[in-house]
Amino acid sequence: METVTTLKSLRRSVDELRHGGTNLALVPTMGALHEGHLTLVREAKKHADKVAVSIFVNPTQFGPGEDLDAYPRQLAQDQDKLLSEGTDILWAPDVAVMYPRGFASHISVSGISAGLCGAERPGHFDGVATVVCKLFNQVMPDVALFGEKDWQQLAVIRQMARDLDLVRPCAEAIIGVPTVREADGLAMSSRNAYLSQEDRASAATLPAAMREAIAAIKGGARVSDALAQLEAALRDARFHTIDYATLSDAATLKPLEKLGDRPARLLVAARIGSTRLIDNMALCLMRSESKDQ
Ligand code: AMP
Repeated sequence: METVTTLKSLRRSVDELRHGGTNLALVPTMGALHEGHLTLVREAKKHADKVAVSIFVNPTQFGPGEDLDAYPRQLAQDQDKLLSEGTDILWAPDVAVMYPRGFASHISVSGISAGLCGAERPGHFDGVATVVCKLFNQVMPDVALFGEKDWQQLAVIRQMARDLDLVRPCAEAIIGVPTVREADGLAMSSRNAYLSQEDRASAATLPAAMREAIAAIKGGARVSDALAQLEAALRDARFHTIDYATLSDAATLKPLEKLGDRPARLLVAARIGSTRLIDNMALCLMRSESKDQ
């Protein structure tokens, strides 16, 4: 595996890899890699001959007062993990390479970015869309893989790829990978490292309460009642702030008051201690939906 940190060396490595028509997958990450990330790498290998992983803690997707400085950075351990997964290129630029002095362009995907995490974290998805577009242009992968854990992010990136007629990867080559969970159901996340022992134990209430809400809705309960019960369960488990808990159309992310015949998604963001956790699960398992619940 080659670790590259400048655009020039990235281009050379990608050109060498591509020699002879080899196709390439990209897995964008912010590092502090866990099994969720490594599952994306393994999945990438099913879709392409070679795999590039990027590690970049993107400052433009963090708001003022968020955890940019505290975000775990552990490049040496990440390199070992990626090496043992058979990664071909690790693209690890620093901030000055990604955003050179005078950088002034931004991508803003309206509509789909507005609600949920976009409402709680103004500018977050502009930062995500801009850096992902740059990563696509830098690596020019045939396919790119993203976790369904960040359901709204996946939707924003797909919308951007469609709107901007991206060629590499094209919109259809953006692949979502089901959420990888700890044994007690908590979605894996680099931010779980912030949880105290007590909060970590309580955090498993989030997926459990979501499953209960889904069972209740499927059993005919009113969506508003099921969501109220979910919020109560979270507060009992010491979640002090619930940014949102909503049933939404899986594609448009518009809130739903009841189940219809289109795929729906239960999406939650809630805070425990100083940690903000997000999770989402499918409601009706349609053809295009994964069984991550
Ligand atoms: P991050 O490093 O948090 O920006 O995540 C990099 C990529 O890994 C994103 O596409 C995430 O959605 C994905 N990811 C993070 N956690 C998980 C997980 N538990 N299961 C599957 N994918 C994940």
